[in-house]
Amino acid sequence: MKQKLVFATNNAHKLEEVKAVVGDSFEILSLKDIGCTEDIEETGKTLEENALIKVKYVKDKYGYDCFGDDTGLEVEALNGAPGVYSARYAGDGHDAKANMKKLLEELSGIENRRACFRTVIALILDGQEHYFEGRIDGEILTEEHGTAGFGYDPVFRPVGYIHTFAELGLDVKNKISHRALAVKALCKYLTEK
Ligand code: IMP
Repeated sequence: MKQKLVFATNNAHKLEEVKAVVGDSFEILSLKDIGCTEDIEETGKTLEENALIKVKYVKDKYGYDCFGDDTGLEVEALNGAPGVYSARYAGDGHDAKANMKKLLEELSGIENRRACFRTVIALILDGQEHYFEGRIDGEILTEEHGTAGFGYDPVFRPVGYIHTFAELGLDVKNKISHRALAVKALCKYLTEK
């Protein structure tokens, strides 16, 4: 029987990506699957803190061992912003379009477009905390391209590609992305422990 793993998210895009990367090895349950529909506030100052806040909340309130992720887009010319504040870059509305618009405005006229996505996964298992990280380098374009994916995908072009994540689609994104790398590290740990 497949091992069940609770993923501390109700973000359908993240869930789809993680299920595709994990494949048949584990059965992934979302927060909704365990009866948790409330938003978990991300009050941490680092990706690690935010990922841990999510899994601790689930462990304390629902009793499940689980994993959770937090992702940031770190832009070199903006000294690492929006980083841990990527979801609320243009305000508390978690509005992806507004966030991208603000990012393009901040980078207007700036030649250095280098950026990376970083995902940190926190896992609580048998009373222990573990962390897994994935990172992908790329560039922020000057306008949106493509419709697949979510968040900042239409303006992020990974190094070595001529298309954005939103043009490349999930098949490619799930092979190379920050989240895919972090999830693969998590699966490796769980299968080898
Ligand atoms: P969080 O991990 O849900 O807090 O995401 C932080 C912010 O980064 C949100 O605005 C997301 O839309 C965005 N984000 C997270 N993962 C990705 C991704 O894989 N591609 C593009 N944007 C992302």
